[in-house]
Order: sequence, then C-alpha cells, then structure tokens
Amino acid sequence: MKYFPLLLLSLLAHMATAQTQPVKSTPATKSITQSGVDSLQVEYVQTQPNEELWLQPGDRLNVQVKAKTGLKISLWNQHPLQELPAEQNKGEKGLYVCSYIVQPSDKLNNLNLPVLVDDTTDLYPYTVFGTKTKVTILNPAQPIYGFTQGKMPYMNYGLGADRLGGAKVGYLDSLVRVQINGKVGRDYRIKLSNTFNAYIPVQQVKLEGPSTYPGESLTSSWSVSGDDANGKYDYVRVAVGQRLPYTSYMDVNPSRIVVDVYGAVSNTNWMTLHRSLREVRNVQYQQIASDVYRVIIDLKHPQPWGYSVGYQGTSLVIRVKRQPEKLKLKHLTIAVDAGHGGTNVGTKGKTGVPEKEITLKIAQLLKKELEKRKARVVMTREADVTLDNSERILLLKQAQPDLLVSIHVNSSGRAEVQGTSTYYRHVAFRPLSQALYEEVLKLDLKEFGNIGGFNFALNAPTEYPNALVETAFASNPEDEQRLINPRFQAEMAKQIRKGIKRFLKETRKRKS
Ligand SMILES: [Zn+2]
Repeated sequence: MKYFPLLLLSLLAHMATAQTQPVKSTPATKSITQSGVDSLQVEYVQTQPNEELWLQPGDRLNVQVKAKTGLKISLWNQHPLQELPAEQNKGEKGLYVCSYIVQPSDKLNNLNLPVLVDDTTDLYPYTVFGTKTKVTILNPAQPIYGFTQGKMPYMNYGLGADRLGGAKVGYLDSLVRVQINGKVGRDYRIKLSNTFNAYIPVQQVKLEGPSTYPGESLTSSWSVSGDDANGKYDYVRVAVGQRLPYTSYMDVNPSRIVVDVYGAVSNTNWMTLHRSLREVRNVQYQQIASDVYRVIIDLKHPQPWGYSVGYQGTSLVIRVKRQPEKLKLKHLTIAVDAGHGGTNVGTKGKTGVPEKEITLKIAQLLKKELEKRKARVVMTREADVTLDNSERILLLKQAQPDLLVSIHVNSSGRAEVQGTSTYYRHVAFRPLSQALYEEVLKLDLKEFGNIGGFNFALNAPTEYPNALVETAFASNPEDEQRLINPRFQAEMAKQIRKGIKRFLKETRKRKS
C-alpha cells in the first residue's frame, strides 16, 4: 500500500488545474520519471457523462479509465475501480469502471476529479490523474436556489440525446424560484418534489445568493372567473405565496386540466366561483404529497381547447381557453406554419428541391383555401426567411390563434419508407391530428401513422389545439415526385383544410 492520506490533501489543492495529465504523487517521495507514467498507458480518465457535474450525497458518480491492463485504480477516496473483463468490452482489456454513490463525507469543490493509478509494483508510488471536466459535491445543508429567466424557460425529464432533445416536461414562467440539486454539463437538475427532479438549461436560471428562505409556502384562497360573454378565457387564480415551479397536463374523458405546484402546502380554505365562467365546470384541489399541491379544473366540453399557466405576482393563474362558440372556419383564427425557411432548408430528396420550398407552397395554398372560407389566417412565415421554432411559438403566443397546423416534409435513411403522417404531443389535441390524417390519406398516400407524445416544438404549445402534418417523404422517389408537383401541393392544402373542417364538425357532434 502506497497511499499517503496526508500528502493527498496537498495534492487535491493542485487538482483544479490538472487536465488528463499525471500529477506527481508527492514531492516528498521519489519523483516519478516520465517513463514511469508512460508505462501506465492512461488514455483517458473521465466521468460518465463526460461533462461538468454537480452531485449531492446519494447520487451516482460513474467513472471510466482506459489504461494498461492489470493496474490498481481508485477514486480519490480509495473507492476502487474494476477492470472490465475483455469480453465485456469488445475484446479489449484495460477499461476500468466504477459507479460510486456519493457520501455525505465526500468533499470536492470544482475539481478535476482525482483518480489514483498504481502499477502495483514497488518501483513508483501511485500517480494521480484528473478528469478534464470538473466535479462539485453539493452540501445539502446549504441548498442552492435560482430564478428562471429568459423568454421561455422549459424543463426536461432527462438528458435526451436524439435530434428532438430531452423530452419536455413543459414551460415555466419567468422568476419562478427553483431549487438546484445538481448539474450535468449545460443543464441544472432541479428538485420539484422529494421524488421528482427535472433538468433546465443553465442559461435559463439566474442563481440566487446564499439562501435565506425555503422553497415552500402555504396556498390561500382561489378566485375562479371568466371574461365577459364575448371573451375567450376563464381564469383560475390560486394564491400560492411565492412563485413555485409547476407542471401541468390536459386530460380527456373526463376533460380536465391538472396543474401540480411543487413546494406548496394547502391552506386553501375556500374557492370563489363566479357566474361568468363558460368553460370551467368545477375546480378542486388535492394535496397529493406533502410537497405537491394539485389543482384540478374540470371542463364543460369533451374537447379541451387549451390553457396557459403563469404567475401574476405570487398568484398562479391558469388561463383556460373556452371552446369557440361557433365552430366554423369563418369564426376562427387558424395559424399555419410552413416548416423551416431561410438558412434552415430542411430535408432534400434526389431532385434537390428543399423542404422549405415545398412547405411554404403548401402553406400559402392552405392560407388561400382557408381565406376562401372566411377564416382569419396567421402565418408564421410567408417568405423564405429564417425563423427558429421558439420565435414561431412566441409569435403564436401573441397572435392567440384558435388552432395551429404545422407543415413539414418527412425523410428517412431508407428510401423505401413512404407515406403521410400526423403528430400531436398532448392527447387532448389528438382528434385534430386524426381528422387531418383521415383527410390527407385520401390523396392515396401510404399510411405512415398518427403519432403521439411527439416532442416537437410546434406541438408543445398548450394554448390551442395543434398538429403537425408530415406530408410525405422526400427521401422516397415516388413521394418526392408528388411533393414537388404543384397540383399535388394544391390537393394537399385542400385536404388539410378539409381535415380542419372535419375536426370542427366532429367536435360539434361531441358537444352534445
Ligand atoms: Zn421538417
């Protein structure tokens, strides 16, 4: 055993600047020759994920080291790494791993994680290597809080890695106070309840100084009221006491809106319901856990028409969109979104016609179709301009449309894949995507599917029913020939218009 705990302390002080480079184990013992270090053949020392980490006791710290086979490797606190049998690593020796549970006694403050590598001979003492990324172990006795900032802060369930990103929990208002209990790379992990964490991009949170008050409060009474008869909304106002984080969803059968407020404890002793309500049928709450307060809003119509959640001061306001009284195109504002545009060309098939051109043509034709029926139309873009998805959503927040259809062209790595598909995120909006699907399929396109839970930005809004139409596949030659044909584009626009009409008609029927 060549472990010198006292000397290690002085080493750790140096670690903050160490990259994946050896650090002399101690100036007091025989210094390591370069060949001694080289003989360890350390290729990398990294955490999994290989990013800056903030951990708290109880979290897992996963570490991997690639080096010569047969070494003795441990974490800074002597917790050993195991060398994987070659069969478990594509036949290669020398991969050392550990999954360590952080203990309350562990202390690391923004350090390149020290790993001790020992060649097991007595020639040299162990050598310390550091990860390239830094690790901090948080002290639960000193919780860190921050406030959400930016135009549209959002939370993810996990650290998704595919092209759609992490699955979204939902958006938050600004200045919502969140407790940070970890960090992975560019995301903070926030504590919603004792059993529910989420992730939020670092730039969307402004850290608060040393915390003076906890992230919990007592709720108070509710006021539930609506606009006048011609207005579009009902409002549920819940006095929460501070701007606590929340999540929400819409349910069907029965149709309702559910909002969970984290850190809120009920002291709601009454709720006042006004006669101006048009869409809200009933309200109630449940304390579903000691730190989760649930707001339940039952709706009058089987088809929910959307909602938004935000704060006015420290009161949580759920604005419930009423189902339009007259479900006819001429009474509605329809938003049409032509996918991509400008520098974002979208996909391309063999002919080289970019998706952005096809979507814009279909969107313009759809606008004409709808305007012929006297609908008001809001376009996210009407020319070949660059517009990212969050700009589109902000624009739609302003426009407050009654419904949104986003138009795209699909693509697959396999040329034989073809057909049309429609997408929704929120189950309450599935009927719109189904009605669109039924009508678009009449163009004799193959069935690719009606796809739910879709983590696409333009399917995320909860304020109005929305659906995405992936018209057909540019990567399939037969589909592509149709997509670039002006007659097909006109037919597609017409069928989308019929799909909207079908949704309205079916909703009217479901009213009774
Ligand atoms: Zn697209």
